[in-house]
Amino acid sequence: MLRIGLVVFVLAWILGPYSLRSAVPIWLVFALALGLEVHFLLGALRSGPARRPDRRPQPVDRDRYGYEGEADDLLLVRYGDEERWLPYSGETDEELDALLTEKDELDEDDDDEEVTSPAVTESQHVFRAVRRFLVGLGVIGALVLTIWFVESRTGWGSLAGDTRLEAAARFSGEASRIAEKPVTIRCDESRDYVGSVQHADGVAYLGGDRAYLTPERCYDLYRLAFEGEVTFSQTARALAVLTHEAWHLRGVSDEGVTECYALQSGVEVGRRLGLSEDTARRMMRQQLTENQLRGAGSLEYRVPADCRNGGRLDLDPGEDRFP
Ligand SMILES: [Zn+2]
Repeated sequence: MLRIGLVVFVLAWILGPYSLRSAVPIWLVFALALGLEVHFLLGALRSGPARRPDRRPQPVDRDRYGYEGEADDLLLVRYGDEERWLPYSGETDEELDALLTEKDELDEDDDDEEVTSPAVTESQHVFRAVRRFLVGLGVIGALVLTIWFVESRTGWGSLAGDTRLEAAARFSGEASRIAEKPVTIRCDESRDYVGSVQHADGVAYLGGDRAYLTPERCYDLYRLAFEGEVTFSQTARALAVLTHEAWHLRGVSDEGVTECYALQSGVEVGRRLGLSEDTARRMMRQQLTENQLRGAGSLEYRVPADCRNGGRLDLDPGEDRFP
């Protein structure tokens, strides 16, 4: 069940929403799965094989009926309607024949017991436990290879180094226009700065000259600017993140105000990167609506009430449309 769960989770991680990727480092999941496999292996080796029940007379029977230990042969004999265990001790031929027949059956029982003696099942048991462990390792290895393959063939990481530099320079140029000074946008492939905290699609030093975006957001911007490919809400989010960090670099610290300015700047940046003005406006309006629908968990990022057409935060009061 755990292995099936692992496979389902990894597929969800690859195909699912971006928030899952940014919230859960996949290598941590693999480390946990590996730890569980080792735990199961050690547990199985420690517990040993399951013992078969011993159907012969038990010590409690011997106490009750007064028989000695294993040294005597035990025979099942009939007294009227009653069956009883007795030690064999030189009966007459007729009695012996009858008793030997009974004893043969008992010996067959004994043979069964010897086939499954602990010495044999011990090695079988170890073999099974190790085999199960190797299957588990195989599953984890296959999933790691899948992730590696997907990551290297898709997304920001699959682009050539020159292309990534060229794209980052383009994003830096757009951010510099907003910040009104030269700034650098980096796409944080090592995820040292972004991606580990929820909603942290980007990080900027307040009033500084450098900001980091997640590779996913950089790839969305690359697809728009270099390939003309648009995925409406993803492209919209990527534009909003780029402009949001640019406004932080300009020196705006309040998250709500920053986001309000970012969504207005996003129209111009989107248009410059290849969108029609109409599409760019619809994207930023969608981002504004999404922002207003956010739950109490991200109140800090909610735009203030005066983030509206003609409001205090309207960057272009003369313009009738917002954003
Ligand atoms: Zn911010």
